[in-house]
Amino acid sequence: MSRQRVILAWNNEYCRHCFGCIAMCVRGALTLDHEHAALSYDIRKCIRCGSCLRACPTGALHTEPMEPVSNQ
Ligand code: SF4
Ligand code: SF4
Repeated sequence: MSRQRVILAWNNEYCRHCFGCIAMCVRGALTLDHEHAALSYDIRKCIRCGSCLRACPTGALHTEPMEPVSNQ
């Protein structure tokens, strides 16, 4: 995963709730939202290492290009 890309979404349809991605994240960028039984992603902590993507057995995590920041 390059530095120009960001993890955007967690597809609940494909997720087996193994939480292997959380276990692999050394920065604590992924946590479990107990209230909604979903992953929570903190982009400020993410270093784009890609460990979570490699850990996911189902491809439930995916990336999309970051939107360019407008100065206007
Ligand atoms: S590793 Fe993949 S399948 Fe497991 S909890 Fe994370 S997103 Fe879901
Ligand atoms: S890319 Fe690395 S730092 Fe970012 S959420 Fe995944 S495991 Fe954590």
